[in-house]
Parts: sequence; structure tokens; C-alpha cells
Amino acid sequence: MVERIVLFGGTFNPIHHGHLIVARAIAEYYHFEKVTFVPAAVPPHKELSPGQASPQVPAGRLPSPEERLEMVRLAIAAEGLFDVSDIELRRRPPSYTIETLLAVRQRHGLEAQLHWIIGADMLEDLPTWRRADEVVEMCRIITAARPPWSSRLEQTLQKLRVRFSAEQVARLAAGVTPSPLIDITSTQIRHRVRQGRSIRFLTPEAVVEYIREKGLYRPC
Ligand code: ATP
Repeated sequence: MVERIVLFGGTFNPIHHGHLIVARAIAEYYHFEKVTFVPAAVPPHKELSPGQASPQVPAGRLPSPEERLEMVRLAIAAEGLFDVSDIELRRRPPSYTIETLLAVRQRHGLEAQLHWIIGADMLEDLPTWRRADEVVEMCRIITAARPPWSSRLEQTLQKLRVRFSAEQVARLAAGVTPSPLIDITSTQIRHRVRQGRSIRFLTPEAVVEYIREKGLYRPC
């Protein structure tokens, strides 16, 4: 049987129920046996900012990469479907998906099928990824599309046509997969902690507890 490796990259600053629910939905849709979360060292396309700091509410303490990894571990503990890899944290930042894919390919061989899950908002950004066309060739990009977003699909595909071949765009379109709309973001969680508001139910209880214990995102 062909080995299927399913990777879900992100900052996970922190991981939340949106990530977890989407990963499960995608796994169920394709009958994947495992989804591996891959926290990025320093995301090249995104700043690790705690959110909008202001004179009234200063920026809080950001987690180290190891702390973000630990939060993923806590979130997925006791869930056999999920796994986490520190592959990007062991490399010098910034993390580029192409390098991760090459390393995974080398380890698992040419036969393995590589899948990379992204949120719908990321699909638009794909052209800015390092060696984006090789990424699209090396793995199947699975885009978790939340319902209202589907209406924007054609617009997004139009943008992708500027950068990718017709065949690549067709593959990207085929990877668009229905998934539930979970209106949670890490930004929202960081904001709420900074403002002293509860983050219960937005992320697993163990992560809530970890953030509290370590004083993450709270104004220093
Ligand atoms: P931030 O608020 O800091 O931008 P985020 O909540 O988008 O963070 P990331 O770690 O950047 O979280 O996301 C990793 C991947 O998960 C991305 O591909 C993103 O599009 C996707 N994602 C994040 N939140 C959701 C969500 N609620 N539903 C579906 N996909 C999501």
C-alpha cells in the first residue's frame, strides 16, 4: 500500500480548535490515518506578532518555538489520528515548506504520497511561497475551504493562473476540500489573553492551562 504522509504546517501560535477540527475533517474526508502538525520555526510569510499592541495594552510575551511545539503536543495528546513533527524547528529559520517536503521525501522515498493541508486564506498566498511551483509538484495541496469562502474560489484561482501552469491550477482546484467553518484564529486568542479575557473553549483546556502557567501573551 502506498504510504500517505499528511502534513499540516502553521505557526500554531497557539494551536486552537479551528486547526484541530479542520485536521480531523480533512482526515475523515480522505480517510487519512494520520495528520502530522508541523510548527514552523519562523514563518517567512508571516510575522510572529502578539497582535495589535497599544499604549494601553502592551505586547505580551510570545512563546518560544519549543513552547509552541509543546502546546501542539498538549492539544493532540491521546488523539491517535494526530501527530506532531519538530522537523522545521530543528532547521535554521526561516521555515520553507519546500525544504520540509524535500526532507520528508528523502526519508520516505519516492513512492510516498505527500499531502500538505492549508487553510483557504493561505491558497491566495501560495504564489509567494519559496519555489512554489516545486511545492505544487511535490505534494498535493489540500485546501480546507470553509463554506462562505467557496464563492471566492474562482477569484483565487484567477490569481493562481498568473503564477502556475493550467495543470497546476487544476490540481490546486481539485485539492479544495469542504471543511467546517470554525471562526477561531490564533490572533483572536492572543488578543483575548492580552486583554485578560477567557480563552476557554477556543483551544483545548491543557493549552489554556499552559498559556496561563507560562504567562504567555500577557502584557509583561
Ligand atoms: P494567526 O491568527 O496568527 O494568523 P491562524 O489562526 O491563522 O494564526 P496558523 O498557525 O497561522 O493559525 O494556521 C495554520 C494553518 O491553519 C493555515 O493554513 C491556516 O489557514 C489554517 N487555519 C487557521 N485557523 C483556521 C480555521 N479556524 N479554520 C480553517 N483553517 C484554519
